[in-house]
Amino acid sequence: MIKVKKRKILLLPGDGIGPEVIAEVRKIIKWYNSKKSLDFEIDEDLVGGAAYDKHKKPITDEVFYKALESEAVILGAVGGPKWDKLDFSKKPERALLKLRKELKLFANLRPAICFKQLVDASSLKPEIVSGLDILIVRELTGGIYFGEPRGIKPSENGERKGINTHSYTSSEIIRVARVAFELAEKRNKKVTSCDKSNVMEAGLLWREEVQSLKDKEFKNVKLEHMLADNCAMQLLKNPKQFDVIVTDNLFGDILSDEAAMLTGSLGLLPSASLGAKDKNGNLRSMYEPVHGSAPDIAGKGIANPIASILSFSMALKYSLNLEKEANNLNLAVQSVLDDGLRTKDILSKGTKEVSTSQMGDAIISKLQ
Ligand code: NAD
Repeated sequence: MIKVKKRKILLLPGDGIGPEVIAEVRKIIKWYNSKKSLDFEIDEDLVGGAAYDKHKKPITDEVFYKALESEAVILGAVGGPKWDKLDFSKKPERALLKLRKELKLFANLRPAICFKQLVDASSLKPEIVSGLDILIVRELTGGIYFGEPRGIKPSENGERKGINTHSYTSSEIIRVARVAFELAEKRNKKVTSCDKSNVMEAGLLWREEVQSLKDKEFKNVKLEHMLADNCAMQLLKNPKQFDVIVTDNLFGDILSDEAAMLTGSLGLLPSASLGAKDKNGNLRSMYEPVHGSAPDIAGKGIANPIASILSFSMALKYSLNLEKEANNLNLAVQSVLDDGLRTKDILSKGTKEVSTSQMGDAIISKLQ
């Protein structure tokens, strides 16, 4: 069998259930190395609270440079009560913000797909969510989470004042909108752009730039503008009206979590964060499950690894150009669900409970 060049993957398991779910991704990567004509070079390091415990910072420069050198970074989750009282700059979550900012990962892709096998896990009626397949594209490196000035400062009357700044430039809006239009071209050719242009100037600029890009370059894609609060309602009322939703960092954070719940469990939701191309033409990227470190179930072997495994599948598709392998992995996950195997978070009547590692093994057995 001819082996292709080694593809560099950096695993950053992080905290809580992060190491448990990333262990299943590692198993799958090793399976590919042993069985297929693929050759992944896996590196692994600390991030978040685990890095703080060892190095007194949530990410070291060495790990950061490894991330720059990798074709894809797969991250588990960071954070937990142990580190909640740390100074803001040392908190585990700062590692994520640094990676996103420095790798210039400006587009966060979150698919919300309702697997037919899990339609009952959603809190919405089956007819509302069955067959749901939407993609939220969230701007990730601008807006209120990064804008300056920021901080807690004394105000003139002696009170304390918390300040954050919401700002966007035209180029920040256009590059993320372009990602959304390009993805919509390969899907159902519809983009819904969400903003608060009725009350925010940055929202008005957002709306104008998205419209102008569509008019110039994406005449074949239908564009609809929607106020973010209306979008929050429409996601619950009629989520299947959407194809691709593009929105800013703050609204995207909230709307993508809401869309997540349409599908039933956080344990099923992958995400990809894509950036600009590096000097060799490779896409900078990081892949992570939508869920956090779930301290309430960490160490029990019951975490659902599917979100992480589907995040790896997105890496196969978007960073490693292995779309066939990505599709096969998605089919393997569905086939395991067809067999009625479930981790505790998605367990229902008539299905069989399996542990984190049994779920990983079952998915590998379907790949065989
Ligand atoms: P969480 O996503 O960790 O957990 C929310 C609930 O969902 C919990 O009941 C948890 O047990 C459950 N859950 C999450 N993932 C699961 C999985 N794979 N399988 C089964 N059940 C799962 O959110 P939280 O409780 O708000 O946050 C916990 C910690 O994680 C906090 O420190 C937070 O800052 C951090 N966090 C990190 C990230 C990240 O690393 N990207 C994202 C969100 C939260």
